Amino acid sequence: MTVPVRADLRAMEGYHSPQVDVAVRLNTNESPEPPPAAWRDAFAAEVSRLDWHRYPDRSAAELRAAIAALHGVEPGQVFAANGSNEVLQTVLLAYGGASRCVATFEPTYQLHSHIARVTGTEVVEGERAVDFSLDLDEVRRVVGAAQPVVTFLCSPNNPTGMVDSEDVVREVLDLAPGLVVVDEAYGQFAPWSALALVDDDRPLVVTRTFSKTWSMAAARLGYLVGPSWLVTELDKVALPYHLDAAKQIAGRLALRFVDDMEVRVKTVVGERERIAATLRRLPVRVWPSGANFILFRPEERSGQDVWDGLLARDVLVRNCSSWPRLQDCLRVTVGTPAEDDAFLDALREVLGA
Ligand code: PMP
Repeated sequence: MTVPVRADLRAMEGYHSPQVDVAVRLNTNESPEPPPAAWRDAFAAEVSRLDWHRYPDRSAAELRAAIAALHGVEPGQVFAANGSNEVLQTVLLAYGGASRCVATFEPTYQLHSHIARVTGTEVVEGERAVDFSLDLDEVRRVVGAAQPVVTFLCSPNNPTGMVDSEDVVREVLDLAPGLVVVDEAYGQFAPWSALALVDDDRPLVVTRTFSKTWSMAAARLGYLVGPSWLVTELDKVALPYHLDAAKQIAGRLALRFVDDMEVRVKTVVGERERIAATLRRLPVRVWPSGANFILFRPEERSGQDVWDGLLARDVLVRNCSSWPRLQDCLRVTVGTPAEDDAFLDALREVLGA
């Protein structure tokens, strides 16, 4: 016997990010390096003293204060949750729902529309320009017609890697009737951030994660910076004690290592440019990236063929080749220099270049 699920969920598929056991894993945009050893030691020491029989600080006050200090905002403008995906879900639990809609500009991060649908929010999909940049005429058309409660941007955009300029974000803020959420999961790798635009008088939300730059994908911690009136509403929606004590410690301690992280970001950006320059000499189309990954499309072979060929050489990249609007495209995460060499060598072999 089964019990029928909600009618609007029946036809939905779950989100999949297939993992394969290979030597070089460049498919999920994680940091190639673990956190600094000193962070591990500090974390282990604090966790060993935890009062495990007590609930954690429900408001995660110290963590919020540390994030606020990092960005020069008020603690009341910060909301943290279990990964930036849960941050987005909390925004949509509070602002989405029946008879409300969100706007996305495709192709973009699939979880924006997925989470919207799961929260019973209608999704209106606009199209990006052929080069995957944001087309402001399309934004005007879509948000004008649909009047979305949330307009999603993703900068740098996953999976294309493209960064929306400050002018574009400001223009979208003028056009959109509701909240503008700029997903900056990869913000540290980009030349500018919308964080500086956050203000209590502006319906702008910027989301960030500890999963990439901070080398803490295993911890599941993300946050947003936005107007304090929005954070007040999100605090009503989040489950009591949703951030466990160990996670609060992990995030707070990570912020003591800003300098180490900036060095890693520089290394990743350097590697990204090296990979991009090499790809441009091969028979593949490469999109400009401001993130820790690069989207490319083989010109003479199918994306699936090249993905198979890389896998046969123990290199896993993200296979976007069957995704809507991304025919034959593959996305490679920047790894360590050795991993990036392994990828480039394997690709040259597969392409016969
Ligand atoms: N936003 C974007 C654009 C992403 O690519 C990801 C990770 N795949 C996330 C949000 C979610 O990150 P997390 O939940 O690990 O913070």
